[in-house]
Amino acid sequence: MPSFSVFDTAIGRCAIAWNAKAIVRLQLPEASDALTCARLLRYLPDATRDEPPAFVRQAIERIRTLLAGAHDDLADLPLDLEGVPAFHRRVYEFVRAVGPGHTITYGEIAAHLGEPGAARAVGQALGENPFAPVVPCHRVLAAGGRPGGFSAAGGVTTKLRMLEIEKACIGDTPGLFDAAEDRTARGQRRAPAAKADDFGPIDESMMHLALEQARLAAEKGEVPVGAVVARDGVVLGAGFNQPIGARDPSAHAEIVAMRAASAALGNYRLAGCDLYVTLEPCAMCAGAIQHARIARVVFGTSDPKTGACGSVVDLFADARLNHHARVRGGVMAEACGAMLSTFFAERRRR
Ligand SMILES: [Zn+2]
Repeated sequence: MPSFSVFDTAIGRCAIAWNAKAIVRLQLPEASDALTCARLLRYLPDATRDEPPAFVRQAIERIRTLLAGAHDDLADLPLDLEGVPAFHRRVYEFVRAVGPGHTITYGEIAAHLGEPGAARAVGQALGENPFAPVVPCHRVLAAGGRPGGFSAAGGVTTKLRMLEIEKACIGDTPGLFDAAEDRTARGQRRAPAAKADDFGPIDESMMHLALEQARLAAEKGEVPVGAVVARDGVVLGAGFNQPIGARDPSAHAEIVAMRAASAALGNYRLAGCDLYVTLEPCAMCAGAIQHARIARVVFGTSDPKTGACGSVVDLFADARLNHHARVRGGVMAEACGAMLSTFFAERRRR
Protein backbone atom coordinates (compact mmCIF):
# COMPACT_ATOMS: atom_id res chain seq x y z
CA MET A 1 0.00 0.00 0.00
CA PRO A 2 1.51 3.34 -0.99
CA SER A 3 2.26 6.17 1.41
CA PHE A 4 2.32 9.86 0.65
CA SER A 5 3.54 13.16 1.98
CA VAL A 6 3.53 16.82 0.97
CA PHE A 7 6.53 19.11 0.67
CA ASP A 8 7.33 22.75 -0.05
CA THR A 9 8.90 23.89 -3.30
CA ALA A 10 9.52 27.22 -5.02
CA ILE A 11 6.31 26.75 -7.03
CA GLY A 12 4.16 25.62 -4.09
CA ARG A 13 3.50 22.50 -2.07
CA CYS A 14 3.77 19.23 -3.99
CA ALA A 15 2.72 15.73 -2.96
CA ILE A 16 4.67 12.53 -3.41
CA ALA A 17 3.56 8.92 -3.03
CA TRP A 18 5.87 5.94 -2.76
CA ASN A 19 6.01 2.23 -2.13
CA ALA A 20 8.86 0.15 -0.69
CA LYS A 21 11.12 0.73 -3.65
CA ALA A 22 10.06 3.61 -5.82
CA ILE A 23 8.06 6.78 -6.34
CA VAL A 24 4.52 5.84 -7.28
CA ARG A 25 3.14 9.28 -8.05
CA LEU A 26 3.93 12.96 -7.82
CA GLN A 27 1.48 15.80 -7.69
CA LEU A 28 2.33 19.38 -8.59
CA PRO A 29 0.71 22.05 -6.41
CA GLU A 30 -3.01 22.67 -6.53
CA ALA A 31 -4.62 25.70 -4.89
CA SER A 32 -4.28 24.18 -1.42
CA ASP A 33 -2.73 21.20 0.34
CA ALA A 34 -6.16 19.63 0.61
CA LEU A 35 -6.73 19.87 -3.13
CA THR A 36 -3.22 18.61 -3.90
CA CYS A 37 -3.73 15.58 -1.67
CA ALA A 38 -7.24 15.03 -3.00
CA ARG A 39 -5.94 14.90 -6.53
CA LEU A 40 -3.22 12.44 -5.56
CA LEU A 41 -5.71 10.27 -3.67
CA ARG A 42 -8.03 10.19 -6.63
CA TYR A 43 -5.43 7.93 -8.25
CA LEU A 44 -4.23 6.22 -5.08
CA PRO A 45 -7.35 5.93 -2.92
CA ASP A 46 -5.74 3.63 -0.35
CA ALA A 47 -2.56 5.67 0.16
CA THR A 48 -1.86 6.76 3.71
CA ARG A 49 0.02 9.81 4.87
CA ASP A 50 3.39 8.93 6.34
CA GLU A 51 6.89 10.15 7.05
CA PRO A 52 9.00 9.65 3.92
CA PRO A 53 11.83 7.09 4.12
CA ALA A 54 15.39 8.07 3.21
CA PHE A 55 15.16 7.53 -0.57
CA VAL A 56 12.00 9.62 -0.74
CA ARG A 57 13.52 12.36 1.41
CA GLN A 58 16.42 12.50 -1.02
CA ALA A 59 14.04 12.64 -3.97
CA ILE A 60 12.10 15.45 -2.31
CA GLU A 61 15.28 17.40 -1.69
CA ARG A 62 16.35 17.06 -5.31
CA ILE A 63 12.94 17.98 -6.70
CA ARG A 64 13.03 21.01 -4.45
CA THR A 65 16.43 22.12 -5.72
CA LEU A 66 15.36 21.54 -9.33
CA LEU A 67 12.32 23.74 -8.83
CA ALA A 68 14.60 26.34 -7.26
CA GLY A 69 16.69 26.44 -10.42
CA ALA A 70 19.35 23.78 -9.86
CA HIS A 71 20.51 21.71 -12.78
CA ASP A 72 19.47 18.18 -11.88
CA ASP A 73 17.82 15.92 -14.44
CA LEU A 74 16.53 13.61 -11.66
CA ALA A 75 17.08 10.82 -14.16
CA ASP A 76 18.15 8.29 -11.54
CA LEU A 77 15.19 8.67 -9.18
CA PRO A 78 13.35 5.35 -8.97
CA LEU A 79 9.86 5.41 -10.50
CA ASP A 80 7.31 2.65 -10.23
CA LEU A 81 6.33 2.08 -13.86
CA GLU A 82 4.29 -0.99 -13.14
CA GLY A 83 0.84 -0.53 -14.58
CA VAL A 84 2.06 2.21 -16.91
CA PRO A 85 1.12 1.30 -20.50
CA ALA A 86 4.07 0.34 -22.71
CA PHE A 87 3.80 3.36 -25.00
CA HIS A 88 3.55 5.76 -22.06
CA ARG A 89 6.58 4.12 -20.56
CA ARG A 90 8.63 4.68 -23.70
CA VAL A 91 7.54 8.31 -23.80
CA TYR A 92 8.41 8.86 -20.14
CA GLU A 93 11.76 7.17 -20.47
CA PHE A 94 12.59 9.31 -23.46
CA VAL A 95 11.43 12.54 -21.84
CA ARG A 96 13.49 11.83 -18.74
CA ALA A 97 16.58 12.29 -20.89
CA VAL A 98 15.58 15.87 -21.75
CA GLY A 99 17.59 17.84 -19.23
CA PRO A 100 16.75 21.08 -17.42
CA GLY A 101 16.77 24.12 -19.67
CA HIS A 102 16.03 22.03 -22.77
CA THR A 103 12.77 21.53 -24.60
CA ILE A 104 11.47 19.12 -27.21
CA THR A 105 8.20 18.85 -29.13
CA TYR A 106 5.56 16.14 -29.08
CA GLY A 107 6.30 15.47 -32.74
CA GLU A 108 10.01 15.12 -32.16
CA ILE A 109 9.42 12.58 -29.42
CA ALA A 110 7.10 10.62 -31.70
CA ALA A 111 9.76 10.66 -34.42
CA HIS A 112 12.44 9.53 -31.95
CA LEU A 113 10.24 6.63 -30.90
CA GLY A 114 9.93 5.60 -34.51
CA GLU A 115 6.26 6.55 -34.68
CA PRO A 116 6.24 9.91 -36.45
CA GLY A 117 2.44 10.00 -36.63
CA ALA A 118 2.01 9.59 -32.91
CA ALA A 119 2.47 13.19 -31.71
CA ARG A 120 -1.07 13.24 -30.32
CA ALA A 121 -0.58 9.97 -28.45
CA VAL A 122 2.64 11.40 -27.03
CA GLY A 123 0.65 14.42 -25.84
CA GLN A 124 -1.90 12.14 -24.23
CA ALA A 125 0.76 10.07 -22.48
CA LEU A 126 2.32 13.24 -21.11
CA GLY A 127 -1.08 14.59 -20.09
CA GLU A 128 -1.39 11.50 -17.92
CA ASN A 129 2.16 11.76 -16.60
CA PRO A 130 2.01 10.74 -12.92
CA PHE A 131 5.61 11.75 -12.27
CA ALA A 132 5.92 15.49 -12.96
CA PRO A 133 8.48 17.00 -12.64
CA VAL A 134 10.69 13.86 -12.46
CA VAL A 135 9.31 12.97 -15.89
CA PRO A 136 9.68 16.56 -17.10
CA CYS A 137 6.58 16.93 -19.27
CA HIS A 138 6.89 20.69 -18.80
CA ARG A 139 9.86 20.54 -21.19
CA VAL A 140 7.66 19.21 -23.98
CA LEU A 141 6.16 21.81 -26.29
CA ALA A 142 3.73 21.75 -29.18
CA ALA A 143 4.83 22.32 -32.76
CA GLY A 144 6.08 25.78 -33.64
CA GLY A 145 7.26 26.42 -30.10
CA ARG A 146 3.73 26.82 -28.74
CA PRO A 147 3.69 25.82 -25.10
CA GLY A 148 1.07 23.11 -25.55
CA GLY A 149 -1.03 21.81 -22.71
CA PHE A 150 -0.24 21.21 -19.09
CA SER A 151 -2.56 19.40 -16.78
CA ALA A 152 -1.28 20.72 -13.45
CA ALA A 153 -3.06 23.56 -11.68
CA GLY A 154 -2.21 26.84 -13.33
CA GLY A 155 -1.92 24.98 -16.63
CA VAL A 156 0.41 26.55 -19.13
CA THR A 157 1.38 29.35 -16.75
CA THR A 158 2.84 26.78 -14.37
CA LYS A 159 4.59 25.10 -17.25
CA LEU A 160 6.17 28.34 -18.42
CA ARG A 161 7.14 29.25 -14.90
CA MET A 162 8.90 25.93 -14.44
CA LEU A 163 10.75 26.49 -17.70
CA GLU A 164 11.69 29.99 -16.68
CA ILE A 165 13.05 28.69 -13.39
CA GLU A 166 15.25 26.25 -15.24
CA LYS A 167 16.36 28.95 -17.56
CA ALA A 168 17.03 31.35 -14.75
CA CYS A 169 19.85 29.28 -13.42
CA ILE A 170 21.55 28.99 -16.76
CA GLY A 171 22.61 32.52 -17.49
CA ASP A 172 21.64 36.09 -18.16
CA THR A 173 20.07 35.34 -21.52
CA PRO A 174 16.55 36.50 -22.37
CA GLY A 175 13.55 34.52 -21.16
CA LEU A 176 12.78 31.28 -22.89
CA PHE A 177 9.82 32.62 -24.79
CA ASP A 178 11.28 35.99 -25.64
CA ALA A 179 13.26 35.20 -28.73
CA ALA A 180 11.18 35.52 -31.91
CA GLU A 181 13.19 32.89 -33.75
CA ASP A 182 12.26 30.33 -31.13
CA ARG A 183 8.58 30.79 -31.77
CA THR A 184 8.87 29.77 -35.38
CA ALA A 185 10.33 26.31 -35.11
CA ARG A 186 11.76 24.98 -31.98
CA GLY A 187 13.77 21.84 -31.82
CA GLN A 188 14.95 20.56 -28.52
CA ARG A 189 16.58 23.70 -27.42
CA ARG A 190 19.39 24.42 -25.12
CA ALA A 191 19.33 27.81 -23.56
CA PRO A 192 22.64 29.43 -24.42
CA ALA A 193 24.46 27.94 -21.50
CA ALA A 194 27.42 28.86 -19.39
CA LYS A 195 30.46 30.58 -20.70
CA ALA A 196 32.45 30.07 -23.85
CA ASP A 197 35.24 28.17 -22.17
CA ASP A 198 33.09 25.44 -20.69
CA PHE A 199 34.58 22.13 -21.66
CA GLY A 200 34.05 18.81 -19.93
CA PRO A 201 34.91 15.14 -20.13
CA ILE A 202 32.05 14.44 -22.54
CA ASP A 203 33.50 17.01 -24.90
CA GLU A 204 36.80 15.25 -24.78
CA SER A 205 35.33 11.90 -25.75
CA MET A 206 33.41 13.61 -28.56
CA MET A 207 36.68 15.05 -29.88
CA HIS A 208 38.14 11.56 -29.81
CA LEU A 209 35.23 10.40 -31.95
CA ALA A 210 35.84 13.31 -34.33
CA LEU A 211 39.49 12.24 -34.57
CA GLU A 212 38.33 8.73 -35.31
CA GLN A 213 36.33 10.13 -38.21
CA ALA A 214 39.35 12.10 -39.42
CA ARG A 215 41.31 8.85 -39.49
CA LEU A 216 38.65 7.34 -41.76
CA ALA A 217 39.11 10.26 -44.14
CA ALA A 218 42.89 9.71 -44.22
CA GLU A 219 42.37 6.04 -45.04
CA LYS A 220 40.40 7.06 -48.09
CA GLY A 221 43.01 9.56 -49.16
CA GLU A 222 40.92 12.57 -48.18
CA VAL A 223 42.28 15.43 -46.09
CA PRO A 224 41.74 14.07 -42.57
CA VAL A 225 39.08 16.16 -40.90
CA GLY A 226 36.35 14.56 -38.79
CA ALA A 227 33.23 15.90 -37.11
CA VAL A 228 30.56 14.78 -34.68
CA VAL A 229 27.20 16.34 -33.80
CA ALA A 230 25.94 15.53 -30.32
CA ARG A 231 23.31 16.66 -27.92
CA ASP A 232 23.40 15.98 -24.22
CA GLY A 233 26.26 13.59 -24.74
CA VAL A 234 24.38 11.56 -27.35
CA VAL A 235 25.95 11.34 -30.80
CA LEU A 236 23.40 12.26 -33.46
CA GLY A 237 25.67 12.28 -36.46
CA ALA A 238 29.28 11.87 -37.48
CA GLY A 239 31.17 12.40 -40.67
CA PHE A 240 34.52 12.87 -42.31
CA ASN A 241 35.81 15.08 -45.06
CA GLN A 242 35.13 13.44 -48.44
CA PRO A 243 34.83 15.89 -51.34
CA ILE A 244 36.90 13.65 -53.63
CA GLY A 245 35.07 10.40 -52.95
CA ALA A 246 31.65 12.02 -52.89
CA ARG A 247 32.48 14.26 -55.87
CA ASP A 248 30.95 17.01 -53.82
CA PRO A 249 32.67 20.28 -52.95
CA SER A 250 30.38 20.66 -49.94
CA ALA A 251 31.23 17.27 -48.41
CA HIS A 252 33.25 18.69 -45.56
CA ALA A 253 33.20 16.76 -42.29
CA GLU A 254 30.91 19.27 -40.58
CA ILE A 255 28.35 19.17 -43.39
CA VAL A 256 28.38 15.36 -43.52
CA ALA A 257 27.92 15.15 -39.74
CA MET A 258 25.13 17.76 -39.71
CA ARG A 259 23.32 15.99 -42.55
CA ALA A 260 23.41 12.76 -40.57
CA ALA A 261 22.19 14.49 -37.41
CA SER A 262 19.37 16.24 -39.29
CA ALA A 263 18.29 12.95 -40.78
CA ALA A 264 18.34 11.35 -37.33
CA LEU A 265 16.25 14.13 -35.82
CA GLY A 266 14.02 14.66 -38.83
CA ASN A 267 14.76 18.36 -38.57
CA TYR A 268 17.17 20.63 -40.40
CA ARG A 269 17.55 22.61 -37.21
CA LEU A 270 19.99 21.18 -34.74
CA ALA A 271 19.14 23.49 -31.89
CA GLY A 272 20.87 22.64 -28.65
CA CYS A 273 23.44 20.51 -30.45
CA ASP A 274 27.19 20.70 -30.16
CA LEU A 275 29.40 20.26 -33.19
CA TYR A 276 32.89 18.88 -32.70
CA VAL A 277 35.38 19.11 -35.52
CA THR A 278 39.08 18.49 -35.69
CA LEU A 279 39.81 21.56 -37.86
CA GLU A 280 38.52 25.12 -37.64
CA PRO A 281 35.39 25.36 -39.84
CA CYS A 282 35.58 27.19 -43.16
CA ALA A 283 33.12 29.90 -44.23
CA MET A 284 30.81 27.40 -45.93
CA CYS A 285 30.61 25.22 -42.84
CA ALA A 286 30.28 28.22 -40.53
CA GLY A 287 27.28 29.27 -42.61
CA ALA A 288 25.71 25.83 -42.43
CA ILE A 289 26.37 25.72 -38.68
CA GLN A 290 24.46 28.96 -38.29
CA HIS A 291 21.57 27.81 -40.49
CA ALA A 292 21.35 24.63 -38.41
CA ARG A 293 21.23 26.65 -35.16
CA ILE A 294 24.09 24.65 -33.67
CA ALA A 295 24.53 25.88 -30.11
CA ARG A 296 28.23 25.31 -29.71
CA VAL A 297 31.21 24.58 -31.89
CA VAL A 298 34.29 22.89 -30.50
CA PHE A 299 37.21 22.62 -32.89
CA GLY A 300 40.72 21.29 -32.69
CA THR A 301 43.41 22.93 -34.71
CA SER A 302 43.20 26.36 -36.36
CA ASP A 303 43.19 26.76 -40.11
CA PRO A 304 45.20 29.83 -41.07
CA LYS A 305 44.17 29.46 -44.73
CA THR A 306 40.37 29.09 -44.61
CA GLY A 307 39.40 29.25 -40.91
CA ALA A 308 36.19 31.21 -40.38
CA CYS A 309 36.24 31.15 -36.59
CA GLY A 310 38.89 33.78 -36.16
CA SER A 311 41.85 32.72 -38.31
CA VAL A 312 40.88 34.44 -41.56
CA VAL A 313 37.47 35.82 -40.61
CA ASP A 314 35.28 35.29 -37.60
CA LEU A 315 31.76 34.64 -38.79
CA PHE A 316 30.61 33.94 -35.25
CA ALA A 317 31.63 37.34 -34.00
CA ASP A 318 29.70 39.39 -36.55
CA ALA A 319 26.64 40.82 -34.82
CA ARG A 320 24.90 41.32 -38.18
CA LEU A 321 24.57 37.54 -38.54
CA ASN A 322 21.73 36.73 -36.23
CA HIS A 323 22.71 33.34 -34.94
CA HIS A 324 25.67 32.92 -32.69
CA ALA A 325 27.00 29.57 -31.72
CA ARG A 326 29.50 29.61 -28.93
CA VAL A 327 32.89 28.63 -30.25
CA ARG A 328 35.81 27.04 -28.55
CA GLY A 329 38.98 26.31 -30.49
CA GLY A 330 42.29 24.69 -29.74
CA VAL A 331 40.77 21.62 -28.11
CA MET A 332 43.12 18.65 -28.51
CA ALA A 333 44.72 20.82 -31.17
CA GLU A 334 47.97 18.88 -31.16
CA ALA A 335 46.40 15.52 -31.99
CA CYS A 336 44.12 17.11 -34.60
CA GLY A 337 46.98 19.05 -36.17
CA ALA A 338 49.35 16.08 -36.12
CA MET A 339 46.90 14.04 -38.16
CA LEU A 340 46.86 16.72 -40.84
CA SER A 341 50.61 17.28 -40.93
CA THR A 342 51.32 13.53 -41.10
CA PHE A 343 48.86 13.22 -43.95
CA PHE A 344 50.41 16.05 -45.93
CA ALA A 345 53.95 14.91 -45.19
CA GLU A 346 53.14 11.44 -46.51
CA ARG A 347 51.48 12.85 -49.57
CA ARG A 348 54.52 14.98 -50.34
CA ARG A 349 56.76 11.92 -50.07
CA ARG A 350 54.83 10.14 -52.79
ZN1 LIG B 1 34.19 23.44 -44.28
